[in-house]
Amino acid sequence: MTCKDICIRHKAQKPVGSGRYAIGQKRCQICEIFLKWDGLWCPCCGYRLRTRNLKYKAKLRARKKNQTEMMGPVFIHAKKNV
Ligand SMILES: [Zn+2]
Ligand SMILES: [Zn+2]
Repeated sequence: MTCKDICIRHKAQKPVGSGRYAIGQKRCQICEIFLKWDGLWCPCCGYRLRTRNLKYKAKLRARKKNQTEMMGPVFIHAKKNV
């Protein structure tokens, strides 16, 4: 599984105002490129393409929540001083 430079022909343009996965672009981990490709497999190296990953999104949300909790006491403290 190696990059044969075929993926360049299917390279996806960076979308404006929306996420790459949201408009159906897929990422190849081997070629390290976003593709505009209907198949599940990379037309270049044959590796399984990454589509919108719900698990990854959930992870992001969890991290955001932790940050809010960390910020919480600081925010209350700052308010007391006012
Ligand atoms: Zn490639
Ligand atoms: Zn590839």
